[in-house]
Amino acid sequence: MNIHEYQGKEILKSFGVSVPNGKVAFTVEEAVEAAKQLGTKINVVKAQIHAGGRGKAGGVKVAKSLDEVRTYAEEILGKTLVTHQTGPEGKEVKRLLVEEGCDIKKEYYVGLVLDRATSRVVLMASEEGGTEIEEVAEQTPEKIFKEVIDPAVGLQAYQARRIAFNINIPKDLVNKTVAFMMGLYNAFVEKDCSIAEINPLVVTGDGNIIALDAKLNFDDNAIYRHKDIQAYRDLDEEDEKEIEASKYDLSYIALDGNIGCMVNGAGLAMATMDIIKYYGGEPANFLDVGGGATAEKVTEAFKIILADEHVKGIFVNIFGGIMKCDVIANGVVEAAKQVGLSVPLVVRLEGTNVDLGKEILEKSGLNIIAAESMADGAQKIVSAVQ
Ligand code: ADP
Ligand code: MG
Repeated sequence: MNIHEYQGKEILKSFGVSVPNGKVAFTVEEAVEAAKQLGTKINVVKAQIHAGGRGKAGGVKVAKSLDEVRTYAEEILGKTLVTHQTGPEGKEVKRLLVEEGCDIKKEYYVGLVLDRATSRVVLMASEEGGTEIEEVAEQTPEKIFKEVIDPAVGLQAYQARRIAFNINIPKDLVNKTVAFMMGLYNAFVEKDCSIAEINPLVVTGDGNIIALDAKLNFDDNAIYRHKDIQAYRDLDEEDEKEIEASKYDLSYIALDGNIGCMVNGAGLAMATMDIIKYYGGEPANFLDVGGGATAEKVTEAFKIILADEHVKGIFVNIFGGIMKCDVIANGVVEAAKQVGLSVPLVVRLEGTNVDLGKEILEKSGLNIIAAESMADGAQKIVSAVQ
């Protein structure tokens, strides 16, 4: 799960990580009021969307007066920002962060990520802050320093110090930097983050170390134990179909293609997407109805696929193990009855109660193309949508 910059900063602050004073605003008036309350000469008006690269896209503006705060708030609120992370359709700005202007001496990069190769949290840092870290990694990888953290003992001060020296933090600020990284690490672990990225971390004119940006991502499997983070969820930032799917505990991810897929088990879902691509098609989604789905759950899953206007055909590929084929068949028929089926439907069923499942589909009167195997089904749906 992703949250906004201002929310990430609230969390970091509670772990003793220095962040600029700031306030969230949902309207222009609130933005002006926030700037008044901050009482600083220079304020920065920042678009809050779940994507980085806002600065370059015009979503971060320095305001030297309350009038300028108003002007920029009017300009940014409601605007659709297109950054390298939003995709071409962009994201509409519905919240702003009004923050005190910071006297930046130098920008750095600091990030914590889970490295799947070593199964450990890795602290990464670079002197090349402010820019996209992917670019630094590609062009000057020697400028990124890493420390692998042993989970038994956590981040050690000597590791943080070594990183601070490597990225050339001024000597007199190394201790503050170490404290900063310790706080960041504690937040990462206690809140079950999957990413904590500070870009830029800045050294200020008056000798402080501050997180000027904050990107925190959380492990969805651990969200249940963090009520405070659940409260940060912003449904405006999420795909509607994915929100609907999460209500029914379905693993659904929207994709760009036109073939809707309904599958059980993540492995089969991956294989199904692969085989569709192999035969020249493009999946419109990844949908795993899971092992023990009820007919109701299958109905909802099917409705979600049908609601996607990009879907020009549906491929149901089920291996009935724990999940029985007749349950799937009933769910498909029920959903088609409720919302109508206007696109070709290819069904491949195998496993427990397969004959019963096929019989239910045949008797339904729905226009279903039966498939004998996965490859057969994939070919049939690809040619049906062409
Ligand atoms: P993004 O990464 O989405 O572009 P950032 O929060 O990193 O957004 O802001 C982009 C740039 O804007 C920063 O690198 C920094 O130079 C400047 N900036 C951001 N916040 C402030 C602030 N409070 N004071 C001064 N400059 C800022
Ligand atoms: Mg940034």
